[in-house]
Amino acid sequence: MAERVAVVGAGQMGNGIAHVFAQSGFDVTMIDVSADALARGRNTIGANLDRQIKKGTLQAADKDAILGRIATEPSLNAAKGASLVIEAATENRDLKFKIFTDLDGIADPGAILATNTSSISITEIAARTKRPGNVIGMHFMNPVPVMQLVEVIRGLATSDETTQRVLALSTAVGKTPVEVQDYPGFVANRILMPMINEAIYCLMEGVGTAEAIDTVMKLGMNHPMGPLALADLIGLDTCLAILEVLHDGLGDPKYRPCPLLRKYVAAGWLGRKSKRGFYAY
Ligand code: NAD
Repeated sequence: MAERVAVVGAGQMGNGIAHVFAQSGFDVTMIDVSADALARGRNTIGANLDRQIKKGTLQAADKDAILGRIATEPSLNAAKGASLVIEAATENRDLKFKIFTDLDGIADPGAILATNTSSISITEIAARTKRPGNVIGMHFMNPVPVMQLVEVIRGLATSDETTQRVLALSTAVGKTPVEVQDYPGFVANRILMPMINEAIYCLMEGVGTAEAIDTVMKLGMNHPMGPLALADLIGLDTCLAILEVLHDGLGDPKYRPCPLLRKYVAAGWLGRKSKRGFYAY
């Protein structure tokens, strides 16, 4: 029997993670409290597999087998029997703390509990469990089936064995893992979010339109996407949550979230997922 991986959260990251593990031959259980999110997650995986077939990177005959390896479940109890659980639920500290406390009681002894958090302390999440040596950050990039990197984050108590296993599993699903230590925002978002925040300040202060700001960064810095379009892709609520973690955790005012970002999130303008952000979709 193939090794089983449980993915908690079927949103844009969760369904992408389920996709790459199933495509690499793992049995996957995708868990979400929202039946709607589970159905949408499955549809997204199907649509992304179709895109791979069109591009010639996947045989059409493989699609059904990949989808057949993905089960969907409404309860965390379905994490039982998995050797690796990857949590990709909403970016909220208390929610993740609760999920890890619950998972600790449900998952098999010895199972690795990984989180795809963008910024919340792995050490603090691990402390909610009785197995902090088995808890680790496994930070995939969006869109997961396309992006090469997995930032592997060691909490203070993460064991060498857990780290080696997660580095190997990341490689097994075709990704390139990079090991980093647990400080707010790790490496990816410590560097990315201040750039996005500064782009939002430029927009708020009228330095340029959204199109102008993004074009400067695309053509001038050779970025494949401008920072405002990227913020819309990530989700403005997620960007705000990460900036709050950087601001609280590092205590430096340079990380203060831009008031315009707060206003967009308050309005429910969350980017692509709500069809309205710095751009309309
Ligand atoms: P999302 O809003 O698309 O999906 C989150 C999902 O979690 C939703 O479907 C929601 O129903 C589900 N959920 C909420 N509470 C739950 C619970 N108790 N049990 C099970 N499911 C629950 O968010 P996303 O963009 O997929 O982000 C998920 C995680 O990945 C966050 O920690 C985020 O910081 C991280 N992340 C996001 C990006 C990005 O670009 N969006 C990149 C890397 C990492």
